[in-house]
Amino acid sequence: MGTDSCDGCGRPISVAGGIANIWTFGEDDGSDGTAMTLEFEDGSSHLLCYPCLGALPDEPTAKDIEKLERVDEETSTLSLR
Ligand SMILES: [Zn+2]
Repeated sequence: MGTDSCDGCGRPISVAGGIANIWTFGEDDGSDGTAMTLEFEDGSSHLLCYPCLGALPDEPTAKDIEKLERVDEETSTLSLR
């Protein structure tokens, strides 16, 4: 409901459902949101758009999230397509 912004790149995004996790990414679960909340084992969570999720490695860490911010700020190489 409503819009939010991606923790990685800051783009405005919409979230269809509640909290999902990275392990269901890539499967069609019927959600039409443009972002998911990624939760880490340490309890922290980050709301990320799909381009950012796609740029993350298989086992993302908080450090990878920080890297997303840097990538977008310096080069804006993440594509929305
Ligand atoms: Zn993003």
